[in-house]
Amino acid sequence: MNPFTPLAYATVDATALLDRLEACFDAVTSRLAPLCARDGKLVPARLDEHQWSSYQLALADADLVAARAAVSADDISDLDRRLGLAFAADAIVSTLAKLQDLHVALDLDSRPLHDIAASDPLYRLRRAAAHPEVLAKLGAAVANATEELGDVPMDEQTSMARDAFRRFAEDVVEPMAAEIHRRDLTVPESLLRSMREMGVFGLSIPEDYGGSSPAGRENTPMMIAVTEALSEASLAAAGSLITRPEILARAILAGGTDEQKAHWLPRIAVGDPLCAISITEPDYGSDVASLSLKGTRTKGGWLLNGAKTWCTFAGKAGVLMVVARTDPDRSLGHRGLSVLLVEKPSYEGHEFTFVQEGGGKLTGRAIPTIGYRGMHSFDLAFENFFVPDANVIGQEKGLGKGFYLTMAGMLGGRIQTAGRALGVMRAALKAAIRYAKDRRVFGAPLVDYQLTQVKIAQMAARFAACRRLAYAVGQQLDTGSGRMEASLVKLLACRSAEIVTREALQIHGGMGYAEESAVSRYSVDARVLSIFEGAEETLALKVVARSLLEDALKR
Ligand SMILES: Cc1cc2nc3c(=O)[nH]c(=O)nc-3n(C[C@H](O)[C@H](O)[C@H](O)COP(=O)(O)OP(=O)(O)OC[C@H]3O[C@@H](n4cnc5c(N)ncnc54)[C@H](O)[C@@H]3O)c2cc1C
Repeated sequence: MNPFTPLAYATVDATALLDRLEACFDAVTSRLAPLCARDGKLVPARLDEHQWSSYQLALADADLVAARAAVSADDISDLDRRLGLAFAADAIVSTLAKLQDLHVALDLDSRPLHDIAASDPLYRLRRAAAHPEVLAKLGAAVANATEELGDVPMDEQTSMARDAFRRFAEDVVEPMAAEIHRRDLTVPESLLRSMREMGVFGLSIPEDYGGSSPAGRENTPMMIAVTEALSEASLAAAGSLITRPEILARAILAGGTDEQKAHWLPRIAVGDPLCAISITEPDYGSDVASLSLKGTRTKGGWLLNGAKTWCTFAGKAGVLMVVARTDPDRSLGHRGLSVLLVEKPSYEGHEFTFVQEGGGKLTGRAIPTIGYRGMHSFDLAFENFFVPDANVIGQEKGLGKGFYLTMAGMLGGRIQTAGRALGVMRAALKAAIRYAKDRRVFGAPLVDYQLTQVKIAQMAARFAACRRLAYAVGQQLDTGSGRMEASLVKLLACRSAEIVTREALQIHGGMGYAEESAVSRYSVDARVLSIFEGAEETLALKVVARSLLEDALKR
């Protein structure tokens, strides 16, 4: 970039402001960490006394990290540079407000923040990147752009896969998506067959086991790109089909025996059987360590008794990854959990009952939901349901490792869910632009109004920032780091999907509220993203803030 352009000056200002804000942020973590600790270690009860501050801290960190990624990218288009600066200006202002609240809550000297708020660089940045006239121009440019927004570097294989899946999503998934949603249908076999042929279920499974992940290294950006492409057409009937094999395959890779890897991974990779993940129970969702589904030893295996809930795709799936308490000593907490693979026939529809030869029973009933339709999420009841020893992940050595294996799986689920949020945002943004061009109000196309243009710019800026961060975290994960960042970007992208779909629906006016408009589906679908794969509060408090405070204690 030419160092004398206005964009270059704005980038310098944004970078300097982020440096200053990060210093104030560090002051907060340095003050908060000892309040949450005893003898240099974080203590859960003390962390709970400072939940609000920890939550704000996590949200502020997400904005700061995304803003940093948005302004520091090289070799990006002029449009992406302007979107990055618009996001950074907005994130800096909102982080400033959060840090001011935190400084008050923690009794810190707020003068450095007041100095930033009153500084010339902030005023200049806001004028250059977030002034209504600038945003309106940016929105108009976004509405007419043919280029990729939030473009990220991709190897040739990934960009070819993205293009192929985008075509598939548009030609095959999109035409079915509305009907599946409105009639609460099960994802049809024809779509599943095509997805199997496209290799959707084997993205995170190594080539040696029949998947497409190159031997010896993971390819998370590829998984994100495919997820994003499919979720753009349908979150529930396409993009989310990848989540289940992603979680199960990672759990098996992390703790399965060689025989289990050889037996299960090639099958999961080809989507036969389809799988589902059963962690949540009626009494325990976020609190995974307390799960209580009872596993009792019997000859040759285990008997399961109790209830699970929200098990998405449990009807159609042939194998369920079930987290059960295999040690009756509840004081063991998460160390009493194991992962069992429950095999069952595949069923269509919203209810099923499976009775084993020995009398064990599993019943399922789909919970009616406002969105995320196509796979159905089931209440499950296990009655003396037999699972052979061979189906305990890690077998004897896997007993008591259920929490660890679940978390290994969830790591993949979280970054994949960020990819899902990207797809929904992209769909919503495109729908909003299309509608704003078609719709005339007060004698002119909606897209010609300043307010619409500003909204489009802000939606695009948010989408592009999340996209840049998600792919960067994907690359980090492939080098063995980025665990906390996967939760961070999941949190930010899912929250952003709610904001972007809200604005997209609003731009549609009354039509946005009609079931026949795709944007109404995007909106109800987006709402679930911040709830599952780690609810927003859990990720903020237990992963992001905890990690930031641990780092502060080490300083
Ligand atoms: C459509 C859908 C599909 C799903 N699919 C699956 C699936 O396939 N498999 C599966 O196992 N689960 C699935 N889930 C369940 C999902 O993972 C849980 O809903 C989620 O983990 C939250 O658990 P909960 O619903 O029990 O909420 P709770 O844990 O009861 O939490 C309620 C609220 O309190 C907040 N909270 C939690 N802890 C704290 C705290 N310490 N302090 C303050 N606030 C807190 C939460 O963030 C949430 O906002 C699905 C859920 C939905 C809605």
